[in-house]
Amino acid sequence: MNHSFRVGIIGATGYVGQRFVTLLDGHPWFKVTQLAASERSAGLTYEKACENRWKMTKPIPEDLRNQIMQSTDHLEDWIESVDFVFCAVDMKKDDVKRLEERIAKTETPVVSNNSANRMIADVPMIVPEINPDHTALIEQQRHRLGTRRGFIIVKPNCSIQSYVPALTPLMKFEPVQIIVSTYQAVSGAGKTLSDWPEMLDNMIPYIGGEEEKSEHEPLKIWGTLSQTGILMAAEPVISAQCYRVAVQEGHTAAVSVRFRRKPGEQEILDCWSSFRGYAAQAGLPSAPDPFLIYRSEQDRPQPSLDSMAGNGMAITIGRLRPDPVLDWKFTCLSSNTIRGAAGGGILSAELLVQQGYLSPR
Ligand code: NAP
Repeated sequence: MNHSFRVGIIGATGYVGQRFVTLLDGHPWFKVTQLAASERSAGLTYEKACENRWKMTKPIPEDLRNQIMQSTDHLEDWIESVDFVFCAVDMKKDDVKRLEERIAKTETPVVSNNSANRMIADVPMIVPEINPDHTALIEQQRHRLGTRRGFIIVKPNCSIQSYVPALTPLMKFEPVQIIVSTYQAVSGAGKTLSDWPEMLDNMIPYIGGEEEKSEHEPLKIWGTLSQTGILMAAEPVISAQCYRVAVQEGHTAAVSVRFRRKPGEQEILDCWSSFRGYAAQAGLPSAPDPFLIYRSEQDRPQPSLDSMAGNGMAITIGRLRPDPVLDWKFTCLSSNTIRGAAGGGILSAELLVQQGYLSPR
């Protein structure tokens, strides 16, 4: 495929925005041509706007250093010069919802990392390996928004991207109850360990809104298409506890599951090793292959060793063992800023291109 798309990043100065910038450097289909954030950054060069807060190990790509930042307050000045946008902003939920709909109504598709539109029934919440068919909702949504080209798709919350991929190949055994505890990195809050000293030698047993998202969003991903949007899956019931831990990158999940039809250990391992997912089958440029990696060592997965598996796009699973209360328990891990944020957004955009929902203006 030979595609060339002009791409805008909204929230380009933030942690996820910086990930987008570095991951899209040299992307075969997408070229970043606009960078936007708040009025605080508008008019500055990208380098100046990121001064003292560049958090990536790679430097700012040379061609974007002197790019002048745009603002969302003056969207109409620049939005029609891009084919679509990635959006990752720290704003109030109602403001994000208004902003993303406003962008879609300029006939500019939005691939969003924000939570504001996630639970709207006609907004697809996509993990390309798992529910690529949910993009069919785009036509319903365009009808609601009155658009011809514009629409919004969202990525799920970063907390669920370790355990939903591991559970999906096991859905045929009908999981009915899941208890999950997540151990989430500081980069999930847009921070580093050095700018969040309170986190050192510490753990915080509360992340606002995260437990609700962790319990409900999987049911949308496992839901089914209908004339009125996604019908949420009725099962499994999920109980989640989410903790912020002193880790820079990588969200870990400890999962216990009860199944209606309890599988054997080898059946579970076979399901994981044979699950490839649509994204790799379709040859999308950012798809990891394998998607799920099982580590048999007792002490894996670990964030520092495994969060960059598959260039940060693969899920690492380990420690499968019987659970004396439910049926089975295991641990899984993914990169929150790559698979759980920018990389997942880029893979979703690649899916939209492959399915024909995204094309140059
Ligand atoms: P962050 O580092 O705090 O960055 C926030 C960004 O939002 C900055 O670029 C900021 O621009 C911009 N912004 C704030 N107010 C704005 C406004 N009024 N108009 C336009 N831009 C505005 O946050 P983050 O960690 O990158 O997270 C961004 C979003 O992604 C959040 O919704 C978060 O929940 C989601 N997310 C994050 C992760 C993760 O692992 N970090 C994972 C999945 C999803 P200025 O520099 O101009 O202030």
